Parts: sequence; structure tokens; C-alpha cells
Amino acid sequence: MKIKNNIPHIGIIGAGFTAFACTYYLSKKGYKITILERSEDIGGLAGAFKIGNSYLEKAYHHLFKTDIDILELINEIDPNLIEWHESSVSNFYKGNFYPFNSAFDLLKFKPLDFVSRLRVGLALFYVQKVKNYSKFEKISAIEWLRKWTGDRACQVLWIPLLKGKFRKYYEKISMAWMWARLHIRANSRSNIFEKEMLGYIRGGFINLINKILDTSKNIKVYTKHEVINIEYNQNTNKVIVSSFDSTKSRKEFRFDRVLVTTPSHIFAKLIESNPVHQDYLNKLAQIEYIGAICMILETNQDLNLSYWNNINDLTVPFGVIVQHTRLIDKKNYNNKEIYYIAGYFEHDSAFFSLSDEELVENWFEHMSRILPIFDKEKIENIFVFKFRNAQHIVDTNYKQKIPAYETPIPNVYLSNFSQIYPEDRGTNYAVREGKKLAIMISESIN
Ligand SMILES: Cc1cc2nc3c(=O)[nH]c(=O)nc-3n(C[C@H](O)[C@H](O)[C@H](O)COP(=O)(O)OP(=O)(O)OC[C@H]3O[C@@H](n4cnc5c(N)ncnc54)[C@H](O)[C@@H]3O)c2cc1C
Repeated sequence: MKIKNNIPHIGIIGAGFTAFACTYYLSKKGYKITILERSEDIGGLAGAFKIGNSYLEKAYHHLFKTDIDILELINEIDPNLIEWHESSVSNFYKGNFYPFNSAFDLLKFKPLDFVSRLRVGLALFYVQKVKNYSKFEKISAIEWLRKWTGDRACQVLWIPLLKGKFRKYYEKISMAWMWARLHIRANSRSNIFEKEMLGYIRGGFINLINKILDTSKNIKVYTKHEVINIEYNQNTNKVIVSSFDSTKSRKEFRFDRVLVTTPSHIFAKLIESNPVHQDYLNKLAQIEYIGAICMILETNQDLNLSYWNNINDLTVPFGVIVQHTRLIDKKNYNNKEIYYIAGYFEHDSAFFSLSDEELVENWFEHMSRILPIFDKEKIENIFVFKFRNAQHIVDTNYKQKIPAYETPIPNVYLSNFSQIYPEDRGTNYAVREGKKLAIMISESIN
């Protein structure tokens, strides 16, 4: 369908990586783009704040060598934006941090007996060699891992990992999701004895979005604009998007096409006023999400950890400690060490209702227990960020739950991370999907 005599105006709901990737590719075609974001800043889950000269993500972020879509975008916009550093990983188990970087480390991993180590190694080798994941879709990760790596490996490695990420949902998680994680990690290095290199966007991930804003034309971004309704008007063939701004006054926008990048259940609420079949709304609402909490410490203490430290101890509420400045030079952050202490939590978790002070008190007790050298006195700043919809629950047979990009509302498209499967969601896939949607939207116009 042609839009005559006018530049097509595309509305995008949400200002995360999917939105800006789509914006970049759409703006190359000359369209006018308006982005509406309910938060006070842009970036979504990859949003950031400033420390020293750099932006720092509210939730830890890095890239893998296999993240080809975002690397291609960076290469096109400014190849200088990417930096690569050697990663390091440890597993905390019963009072000790064990390095976990290569097959050698697995062979030396004392919490597992030798037979369990071998079984884990063989299972990982097998999973990494499997190219077609379809055989893993119907079986849960924990069931498959228990069968092939044994009870001990489940207790020490897999249950803490799965519970750390999915909490009460952990037994439902599909082996296809685990396959994708292991596959990507394996392919991001040339052999299992080599150390992994991780990518970071120079000065913070938000800089990629800032570059998109600098290089693209005809873009308007409205933050503090919560979209509350999306409706198709048959007479004008326009999509009417209503929002509340920060003063709670209602605004209306008219667009030729709309891309929604919010979580699926939020989208379901936004389109309720249209004649949409209840089955479709139920399908959207069926996708479950879990939240995340990230506590960031800016401190003078070097705890000498690995970059990534899995906490394989279910009595500790957080699942990971990330020493960000083990990967990125601390000179970017006023020479302070930066740590993320983070975990995933169900929406009704008590941690979401604790005040920041209460949360700090609770988590610091655990920090002191697992890391007796941890010194609160050396901390200069603490930041706490809570994300309600941080990760969707990728259960067995998840594929059937995935909503289509084209929605029953004419000219309205949906692209969010619940459609990414079997890979774990990430900025790379947000870019991949954003680009795909830009092509779909422009083809629908021409
Ligand atoms: C703890 C954590 C660690 C992560 N680590 C990595 C990593 O290492 N590497 C990596 O690549 N990725 C990582 N990710 C994932 C990555 O951040 C996401 O995949 C990506 O940012 C998703 O982008 P998006 O645009 O699809 O969604 P989002 O970033 O969720 O954007 C959606 C936007 O919609 C807005 N919105 C919602 N409702 C409304 C409404 N009614 N009106 C207007 N706006 C609305 C939201 O505020 C949000 O800004 C991590 C995520 C988390 C939570």
C-alpha cells in the first residue's frame, strides 16, 4: 500500500536496542520516526548512567564474537566503537572461587568427582557439536543434564545456574535454551583450551544508540511518555497511539506504521480496545517474565575476582558478582573498581519490595560471608536498579508461544525479546530483530 504525498511516519514504542536498531535501518530509507518511551531515559535494559567520563550500564553488558548482527552495525556506524578483552570466569562453591575458563579448569574442578567432570566435559562437547537443536525442544534442561552429567553435577553446577536465572521456573526451562547458550559460548572461541574474548562498546553500550541518533535524520524521541492505548482507524488508515506524559496529560500521535517493542503482556494491554480475538491476547499474556536486580558498587577495593563469578550457593540471594573493571580499565571510572552484584527474581519476590538500604544491608551480609575481605568502608557509591521484565521464561515447547511480528491490528508490528529463540536475549538479537522489522515495515509501505 502506498502512502501518497507524504513521508511515511513510523511510531516506535519503547526506546531500547530493538527500537534504535529499527530506527537506524528505517531512517536510511528516509522515513520519519517518533519513539515513545515511558522511562525518563533511553536504552531500556541496556540503559546507562554516567560515572567519570564513561557511561556504565545499569545491568552488566558484554558481547561475544558470535554477536554478528550488532558487530556488523557497529562496523557500519563506527568500527572504533568496539573493544575486546580477555574474559575470566569463576564458580564460587562452598567457600572457594574456582577458575572456570577452559576444559583444563573443568578437569581440575574439585567440587566434582573425576567421573562427574568427565561426564560434564563429554556432555558439553556433544551439545556444542549438535547443529540442529530441535531434539532439545521438548525436554527440560535439568532432565537432560541430570541424565547425561549426573546428580552431582546438577547439584554443584546446573541447579544453581538455572535457579539463579529462572528461580521457581528452573525445572521448566528447555534444553534448547541451554543448547543455544553452550553453543554460542563454544563458537565464540576457536578451541576449548583458548580463553574467551568479550566485546564492550567503548564508553558504554548507550554510545551505539547515541551514534544512531547522531547519524540518523528525522527522528524524535519522547521520554517519560507511557503509551496507554494503540488503535487502528479504518477511515484514515492511521494508527492512533495515546500516551501519558510526565504531567499525566494525554497525548495522541498518528502514525502510518507502529512497531511495539514492549514485553508481550504490556502489548496485550495496549491493544485491548481493538476488536482483537481473546485467544491472541491470551497468547501474549501466556509468556511469563522474571525480573532482575543489579546492585553496582563503585569502590576503592580490588577484590581480585574474575570478571564473571557465578555464585553456586543457593543460600546467597544473588547469582553473580561481576568485577566489571577486570574487563574494562578502571581509568574510565575515576580509577574506581566497579562491581555488579546481581540476581533474577520473580515479580512477587520480597527483594522487589525492599528499600535500597534494606537490600544493601541484606546483600552485604552475604558478601561478607562469601568474601571475608569485602570492605564496606572502601565503597564510595552504591546504585541499585530493578528491572521487572528482564527475562522471559523459555520453557519446553516454547516455540509455540512465540507471537508473530505482524499483529491482528493493521499496520501494527510487535518485536520484543520474547520472540528470540532459542538464543538467550541480548543486544545482538535486538539489533537482528530491529533490522528485520525495518525491512518488513518498509516492504509494507512500498
Ligand atoms: C541483568 C541483565 C544482563 C544483561 N546482559 C547482557 C549482555 O551481557 N549482553 C547483551 O547483549 N545483552 C544483555 N542483556 C539483554 C539486553 O539488555 C536486552 O536483550 C536488550 O537490551 C533488549 O532490548 P529491547 O529493545 O528488545 O527491550 P528493552 O530494552 O526492554 O526495551 C523496551 C522498552 O520499552 C519501554 N516500555 C515498556 N512499556 C512501555 C509503554 N507502555 N510505553 C512506552 N515505553 C514502554 C521500556 O521502558 C523499555 O525501555 C542483559 C539484560 C539484563 C536484564
